Amino acid sequence: MFVKNNYNRTDANGWRRKAGSLVADKDLGERVYTSRLIGLVPDLIMHGGGNTSVKVTRKNIFGKDEEILHVKGSGWNLDTIEAPGLPGVRLNPLREFRKLKKMTDEDMVNIQRNNLIDSGSPNPSVETLLHAFLPHKFVDHTHSTPFLILANLPHAKKICNEIFGNSLAIVPYIMPGFKLAKKAVEIYEENRSVKGMLLLNHGHFTFGKTAEESYRRVIEQTNKVATFFSLKKELELGKRLPTKNLYMVPKIRGLIADIALKENDPMPIIDLRNSKQVLNFLNNKNLTKLENRGMASPDHVIRTKGSPLHIKNTADYQNEKALKKHIEGFSDRYIKYFNRQSKKADEKKSILTADPKHGWLRSIGVIGVGKNAKEASATADLAEQNLHIRIISEKFGGFYPIKEKDMFDCEYWSLEQAKLGKGKPPAFEGKVVIITGGAGTIGLETAKAFSQLGANILLVDNNQKLLDIALSKLTPWDKSFCCDITDKNSAKKALEAAIWNFGGLDILVSNAGNAPSGYLLNLPNKKLRDSFELNFFAHQSFSVEAAKILEIQGRGGQILFNISKQAVNPGKGMGAYGMPKSTTMFLMRQLALELGSSGIRVNGINADRIRSGLLTSDFIKTRARARDISVQKYMSGNLLEKEVEARHVADAFIALANLDRTTGHVLTVDGGNTAAELR
Ligand code: ZN
Repeated sequence: MFVKNNYNRTDANGWRRKAGSLVADKDLGERVYTSRLIGLVPDLIMHGGGNTSVKVTRKNIFGKDEEILHVKGSGWNLDTIEAPGLPGVRLNPLREFRKLKKMTDEDMVNIQRNNLIDSGSPNPSVETLLHAFLPHKFVDHTHSTPFLILANLPHAKKICNEIFGNSLAIVPYIMPGFKLAKKAVEIYEENRSVKGMLLLNHGHFTFGKTAEESYRRVIEQTNKVATFFSLKKELELGKRLPTKNLYMVPKIRGLIADIALKENDPMPIIDLRNSKQVLNFLNNKNLTKLENRGMASPDHVIRTKGSPLHIKNTADYQNEKALKKHIEGFSDRYIKYFNRQSKKADEKKSILTADPKHGWLRSIGVIGVGKNAKEASATADLAEQNLHIRIISEKFGGFYPIKEKDMFDCEYWSLEQAKLGKGKPPAFEGKVVIITGGAGTIGLETAKAFSQLGANILLVDNNQKLLDIALSKLTPWDKSFCCDITDKNSAKKALEAAIWNFGGLDILVSNAGNAPSGYLLNLPNKKLRDSFELNFFAHQSFSVEAAKILEIQGRGGQILFNISKQAVNPGKGMGAYGMPKSTTMFLMRQLALELGSSGIRVNGINADRIRSGLLTSDFIKTRARARDISVQKYMSGNLLEKEVEARHVADAFIALANLDRTTGHVLTVDGGNTAAELR
C-alpha cells in the first residue's frame, strides 16, 4: 500500500460533535477532518495545492433553507485547515453560471465573493465552480504523486483505462477556472457512474455521498495508480546529509542576487535537500532533456517557475566564470520566454524577477529558492516531488506536462499579476541574521525586532530548553543552534547551520557575554582567561567565520557586536569584563578596516545597565543598596533619567543595520553618560 487510509469513525464523530448542533456544521466538521487527513500526506497534496468541499443546507436570514457550498479558501492549507478555512458560498447562484459561455477570472472571483455567507471569509478556491457544478455532497481534489505521474504521460488515457476501466472520467487540460469547471462536469454527465476524474496534466478528483466515501476513493484510486507504477514508499522530503559542498550554497545565493536580481530586491533564501535518492536522481543521464519540459501541475509553476537552474558538470563549482554562465543563461532564457509568451497574451503582463526558483545541483542536491524560509521550503518540497515524478515517468513513456503557453498562462495569471507591486516588502526580507546569546533578554529582543521586519533568524545559545522557549516567540520558520560558543569548532558549525537552514548569512549579531567581577589583585587567573574566552575570543571566532561566508557570498553584509560601556569607561572590580570587551571593540575596528573593501560593515553597541541575565534583579538591588538609592533611581541613573531596556538595544542594532554608509562605529545605548561618551 502506497498511502494508508487513516479514516477513523470515532475521530470523525469527535469532529462532528465538536462542530456544533446543526447538521450542516457537523458535516462541515467531518469535512475539516478528512481534509486534514489528506493534507497531512505530502504525496497527496502540498502547500495550498488541492482543495475539498461539502454541500450543506442552512437557513438564511429569512428562515428559508438555502444550499451552501463550503469550499477551501485561499491562504489555508489542508493539513491545518479549520471551519473558517472552508468559506460558505450560496450554491444556486453559482450553478446558474453554467449557462454562460464565457467568464473572466476577475468576474469569477467577484461573483464567488458576492455570494459568500460571511463577507469576511477568504476568497474561495479558483476551482470552486468545479466543486459547485458537480452534484455530489463531498468532493476532494488532490495533486498526488502517482496521479501526477499518470497525468503527464503521453498515453495517460490508455493507462488510465487499463487501471480503472471506465470508472474514472478523463478531463483534458484546461487552466483552472470557469472553462475547466464547465468541461469537467460535461464529461462527468456523459457517465454519471464514474467514481473520480483524472485531470490531464493537473491532478485528480473524487466525490461521494459521505466524507468517508470520497476520502476512501482518494486513497483507493491513488494506491491503484501507485501499484501500476510500482511505487512502494512515500516521498521522504527534506532529508539532509553532511556534504563537503555546503559552501557552494552561499556562493550560488550571492551569484543569483548579483546576476538575476536588481540591486534592491531581497536576497534569496535557499533550502538545500540532498538525500541519497535526490543525489542519485541528479546523476540520471536523462536529466538534461528533462529540464525544460515543465512542471507536473500548473500550480507548481507559480512557486518553482517552469525549469530549474541545472548544474550537471561538477567541475563548474570550482570555476566562478562557469557558475556565472549558468545563472546568466537561466536569466536570459527566462526573459526570452517572457518576451515570447507575453506577446501572445490578451493583456499587458509585467515580468517577474528572472532568478531561478529551484535548482538541480549535481552532487550537491536540490534547492528551493524563496523570499523567506517558508517559501524556500515549500518550493524545495515541490522540486523534490517533481524530480521524482520525472524520473519515474521516463520509465513509463515519458514526462510530458503542459506546454509553454499554458505554463505561462498559469505563471502570469491575471489575478496573480494584479497583486504585483502592491505593498512594500518588509525591510529585512531575505536577510539571514544569526544572534549569539539568542535566548537571553537582549538577544531575544533583538531577534524579535529583526524577525518583525521580515528577517530569518538563527538563535545561538548554550541551553536548548531556553532556546525552545525563545523560538516560540518568533515565527515557526526561525531556527536555533545549541552550542558552547567558546568551544573550538562551534562558530563554524553554527554558521553552517545558517547555510543549511537559509542558504547563507547577512548579519551576525555577536551578542553573548557575561560579566565576572572582582578586583584585579584578587582575581584568579582562570576567571580572567575564561572571561577572555567568552567576551573576546568567541566574538573573534564567530565574526571571522561569518566574514568568510560573507566573502564567499560576495554581497557585503554586517557584523554587529554587543560591546559594553566598560570598554571605554571602566568600573571598579569590573576589569575581567572590561578588558576583553575593550579588546572586542578593537576587534570591531580591525575588522571594519580589513573588510570594508568587501562591503562588509562592522559596528558595535555600548549599552549600560540593562535588566538581563547579566544584570539580575538581585544584583541590581545590591548595587542600589550600596549607593543608598532606590532600584528605580539606580536603573535611571543617566542623563535622561530614564531606564534603558533591552528593546532599546534591539532598536540600536536595527538602526546600525540600516545605516548603509556606517562602519567602524560604536553607538551608545545608556541614556547618556558623559564619562562613557566616545566622540
Ligand atoms: Zn488543482
